[in-house]
Amino acid sequence: MLVSAKEMLDKAREGKYSVGQFNINNLEWTKAILLTAQENKSPVILGVSEGAGKYMGGYKAVVGMVNGMLEGLGITVPVALHLDHGSYEGALECIDAGFSSVMFDGSHYDIDENIAKTSELVRICDSKGISIEAEVGSIGGEEDGVVGTGEVADPNECKAIADLGVTMLAAGIGNIHGQYPDNWAGLDFDVLAKIKELTGDMPLVLHGGTGISEEMIQKAISLGVCKINVNTECQWAFAEATRKYIEEGKDKVGKGFDPRKLLAPGTEAIKVTVKEKMELFGSINKA
Ligand SMILES: [Zn+2]
Repeated sequence: MLVSAKEMLDKAREGKYSVGQFNINNLEWTKAILLTAQENKSPVILGVSEGAGKYMGGYKAVVGMVNGMLEGLGITVPVALHLDHGSYEGALECIDAGFSSVMFDGSHYDIDENIAKTSELVRICDSKGISIEAEVGSIGGEEDGVVGTGEVADPNECKAIADLGVTMLAAGIGNIHGQYPDNWAGLDFDVLAKIKELTGDMPLVLHGGTGISEEMIQKAISLGVCKINVNTECQWAFAEATRKYIEEGKDKVGKGFDPRKLLAPGTEAIKVTVKEKMELFGSINKA
């Protein structure tokens, strides 16, 4: 059964580790991530962007697939199904469809409107036992067509949003989605420390987990980050393994064209990537 992300994140904060959010795009992605979590006894959050939800045939199709796999694959570790960078309307749809967690990304609104919309969703999520992530300060790079400028969040605004009773808070601290440029300045730990000081026990979320160095990840966890989002790295791993299979002509040998064979190397590659991240984040054997 899907669970809210609240308990797993509270435990992560206490235990000084992070739970990974891995975005799903289809059946292979979902299966790879769930099996890796189970094999490594790690809690896990499945992220679904609005675009990925549409791609998979709608939020109800996603909920049906994930719930079916939890049963069919015998998954017993805590799993949250989470809307990633949701709009207000998208969050309402996911709540209705059976997601156990949503993110409302109001970072592109002015702070008053972000507060108004976030507090309305907090009220609805609370009544249903669903966890909710809010965002302050947009994350740089492109996420599903939404281009963020990579602002550094204002710690006082973070406190204002945290005080609304959200479950977890994403704050821009110089992180970006996708590939980091060579001249990237790194994470702004001074701002992260200030946000932590003002928001107390609020689990903090780090987006753009692909390409952040191990040292920076560990420092971020020590400063209160309890959830780290990874998306691009699984996509690279899947694409590379699939390309290799085709380039080696394996799809032309025997029944190598069978989609279950064709997509297997990519699926295995996602499993390797997810396990590496779980090790780095410290979530293995925490379920
Ligand atoms: Zn993000």
